[in-house]
Amino acid sequence: MLKKLGVAALSAGIIFSGVSTTAASADGNSQLNNSRGNGEKTENIIYMIPDGFNADYATNYRHYKGEPAVWDTHLRGMYTTYSADSNITDSAAAGTAMATGVKTNNGVIGLDPEGNPQQTILEASQNKDMSTGLVATSTITHATPAAFGAHVDDRNKETEIAQQLIDNEIDVLLGGGKNNFLPESEGGNQAEANVLQQAEEQGYQLIENRNQLLEADIDLENENLLGLFADDAMSPELHRDTEEEPSLAEMTQTAIDTLNKDEDGFFLMVEGSQIDWAGHANDAAWAMTDVGAFEAAVQEAIDFAEEDGNTLVIVGGDHETGGMTVGANGSGTANPELLQSVTATGENIAAELNDDRSNAGEVVNKYTDMELSEEEIQSIQKAEDPIMAINTVISSKANVGWTSTNHTGVDIPVYAYGPGADKFSGAHDNTDLPKIIANAAGIEFGGKTSQNQSEGTVYTVKSGDTLFEIGLKYNYLWTTLQEINQFPNPHLIYPGDEVYFK
Ligand SMILES: [Zn+2]
Repeated sequence: MLKKLGVAALSAGIIFSGVSTTAASADGNSQLNNSRGNGEKTENIIYMIPDGFNADYATNYRHYKGEPAVWDTHLRGMYTTYSADSNITDSAAAGTAMATGVKTNNGVIGLDPEGNPQQTILEASQNKDMSTGLVATSTITHATPAAFGAHVDDRNKETEIAQQLIDNEIDVLLGGGKNNFLPESEGGNQAEANVLQQAEEQGYQLIENRNQLLEADIDLENENLLGLFADDAMSPELHRDTEEEPSLAEMTQTAIDTLNKDEDGFFLMVEGSQIDWAGHANDAAWAMTDVGAFEAAVQEAIDFAEEDGNTLVIVGGDHETGGMTVGANGSGTANPELLQSVTATGENIAAELNDDRSNAGEVVNKYTDMELSEEEIQSIQKAEDPIMAINTVISSKANVGWTSTNHTGVDIPVYAYGPGADKFSGAHDNTDLPKIIANAAGIEFGGKTSQNQSEGTVYTVKSGDTLFEIGLKYNYLWTTLQEINQFPNPHLIYPGDEVYFK
């Protein structure tokens, strides 16, 4: 006997958005009162993640800029970032925690440590008929954006992530990584699939340069927007071709304008992806300029939120990178403002070194206006890694210190603006963030969405006149539906299709 499926399993809206079931909350997050801050309702969420950014970056950036940053007055609290298998998280586990409210192992996207897919706050927003978007300056399939719209056991499976982001019908996707959508036969990384073509057939408008972004006018009812502005990652802000590649602020503005056409509200995640890469490279100037690009994007979000009145903006890094310090080498002053004169990343400066590096002092001076001592020039000439040597010299001129080339495990400040912002006050864990967002915006959001279902449950899925029997894998229906998507018709389950279990 068939019963209409009415369980929480379907609250993951990946393929199911539109299936007529009532999802039950699974982790006690059943209070759905809209938060009212300043007498206003939280209808839109803009979740902004500066990858690798912490208080050390915030302080250096304030000195570098010479005045407070846009977030400084919106500081609310702090949170811990450890992952399920380490006290130092990577971006995959951190993104998963910030997207799903569940700790996982480093490297894992959207699954708990046992491999069970976890509903993301983006997917929960889709279930509330909100429009959704992801914006990044890395590949759009990189760990942080992926954690909001995909579920894979290894962050490096970026081609699989590309497929899932499109299958997930996220309305706006803007970033780099075109090659992860194209087949090898067209120079891409997909074995055979042309995910760009699939996206286009699915109603995505494809764009690939700044002008197309600025002119984009999407009818959200029938269209989505996929902007891939580089084959791989986009450029560091220091080297961005401002005619060709949009800024993070421009991508954020287009994403907001597009998603805001949905009267049910929107969820947008914006990542300043390369602050972290600058931290890994101990490149202080790259870090400051990419924080600046991120700040401009936050300014766009806050300008919109001020005007709109119903938008909650959250800003918080996923972890710290590099163990940056404000002051270094025994000095009693910090001079990050000296980094204003730097016009290239250490990598690009090093690319101009000649074979014997006899021009080290000249090329560094050319891109920094800094006069190097004989000792500093020699440190670059003798270095095994000249890029790191150049970055070390520039950082020490500015008294910006570094203690690691990896992430560190320190707590992270959270900033918030708009109705619901007060809820972020105090001490939290990174897994609390999406729960607070869901609570503020009345989004039903629930971790292990099918935890009541036994592994042996068999579902019958009806699409049109055809019935399919499917089992339950990972205790989660969506994963199984990914498998039945291998049927000739890639969109077996349409909104309005009936789903049964027996
Ligand atoms: Zn990260």
